[in-house]
Amino acid sequence: FAETKVAVLGPHGVGKSALSVRFLTKRFIGEYDQSAESKYKYTTNVDGETMIFEVLDTVSENEDCGARDDVLRWTDCIMLVYSVVSRKSFDAIPELKKTIEESRKGASIPMILIGNKRDLAHMREVSTEEGEKLAVEYGCPFLEVSASEDVDTVTEAFHKVSREVIEF
Ligand code: GDP
Ligand code: MG
Repeated sequence: FAETKVAVLGPHGVGKSALSVRFLTKRFIGEYDQSAESKYKYTTNVDGETMIFEVLDTVSENEDCGARDDVLRWTDCIMLVYSVVSRKSFDAIPELKKTIEESRKGASIPMILIGNKRDLAHMREVSTEEGEKLAVEYGCPFLEVSASEDVDTVTEAFHKVSREVIEF
């Protein structure tokens, strides 16, 4: 079977755990352990093929947003997550991207850019266009999702990045 290891990276509080749990269980709990890094194994169907996902829900203890060398050596692809209601989280993405590039010594890796919490429309600080523009710059797919309100787009995000790995 095909296997995809996904590292979910991004600043604290953007919803990395909520997205991982949503994908794996189709549920949204609301509060997640803030301190524990979790690795999940999940088998599902992508485009009619069995796909084994290993999802690493990282913890951003400091400025590295979870992008440690061991994580970046382990993973097949990266989900870069910010929150559309946090300008600060969006502004942290370029630094995170740089950390990834430095750690991998320029070797490219499949990625997807995710703007989470799109359900909080009244609190939005980052426009869809800004996310799209950054993704074009990075040459990677982009999706706005809501871990709390929609299952389908969250699932699509993980499937999309696994397709990037297959095509890589
Ligand atoms: P992490 O630090 O990136 O793992 O973030 P968490 O997954 O722990 O989420 C941080 C907070 O944001 C929690 O209170 C979640 O319930 C909340 N949250 C996560 N995703 C969403 C979302 O899509 N919409 C809303 N409204 N809240 C969310
Ligand atoms: Mg978390």
